[in-house]
Amino acid sequence: MKEALWWKTEEDGRILCTLCPRYCRIGDGQAGFCYIRKNIGGKLYSLGYGKPAGFAIDPVEKKPLNHFLPGTGILSFGTAGCNLGCRFCQNWSISKAQLDDGGSLSAGPEEIVRMALAHNAPSIAFTYNDPVIWGEFVIDISRIARQSGLKSVMVTAGYITPEARPEVYRYIDAANVDLKGFTERFYHKLTFSHLEPVLDTLRWLKNETDVWFEITNLMIPGENDDPEETKRMCAWILENLGDNVPLHFTAFHPDFKMMDKPRTPAATLRRARQIALSAGVKYCYVGNIFDDEGQTTTCPACGRVLIRRSWHDLLEYHLVGDRCPCGQQIPGYFPPRERAQPRAGRRLVLQTQ
Ligand code: SF4
Repeated sequence: MKEALWWKTEEDGRILCTLCPRYCRIGDGQAGFCYIRKNIGGKLYSLGYGKPAGFAIDPVEKKPLNHFLPGTGILSFGTAGCNLGCRFCQNWSISKAQLDDGGSLSAGPEEIVRMALAHNAPSIAFTYNDPVIWGEFVIDISRIARQSGLKSVMVTAGYITPEARPEVYRYIDAANVDLKGFTERFYHKLTFSHLEPVLDTLRWLKNETDVWFEITNLMIPGENDDPEETKRMCAWILENLGDNVPLHFTAFHPDFKMMDKPRTPAATLRRARQIALSAGVKYCYVGNIFDDEGQTTTCPACGRVLIRRSWHDLLEYHLVGDRCPCGQQIPGYFPPRERAQPRAGRRLVLQTQ
């Protein structure tokens, strides 16, 4: 078992976990809200360390990341547990699982990096549940990945404390951060967390790190799809993060404890995209629907189509390095041209048992 980082002992003998803003106080023999950080005999242990689940090679566009190594596969996995309690969780079979539910296997950091290399994946994604709660594992894998020439990606809700952020992100190259809504009501009622720490993480990523990041907003009918909320969110992004951060509006499907809501209509996502583009966001995409226009990257200077996608497929690729043929630089990490030829996205599920 791996002893955890980021905790201290309280006067009453309980442990205070300082990894995420939930700040769980954990008695001996108990686990925190996320299930996978446990007080055993007065020490906090990270039970998810070395217990990955759900290995697959995904198209990187599925994370979603549209400006990071487009057209490449990414080794993806999660662990059990989560530090948020989203009623609409789209990955609940993993995030609500306990470690002994049977989906996990034993694999150390070196083994996972070897797996990525063996499948010619240039990057590794910590995803499906929130990797914040297995931060110790993230650090060790991403350090070895960097030494091996691979990139590391966090797919996260950004719910992490300022004291833990620098260490967890030390070897991270890119992130997709869920901005799940833009009201405290939404965060409190539907995720059992708070909005402000997420905004703080986004500002920190922009101002204090070189991590490439994109933002995803999963739109749920009647909960966070009010155009006025979208306008306020875009205004905040532009003021605090600038106009180069790609923004993805993605479709919800009924899941977990939110089976009473319909799927997000495509028109809702298209409307949100138009709001963002009109506000000045340069790169805005829609996801989980078929919409070639809403998944295309165009040059903000000359309007030329640079990357045309359909769902996770790459149909056209016209970038030269990180530039449009007109010379305009496009923000992100772009592979050499020969590695980003148009190709169909694929998902290769790897054996984990
Ligand atoms: S990481 Fe887990 S144990 Fe720690 S504060 Fe967050 S939910 Fe609680």
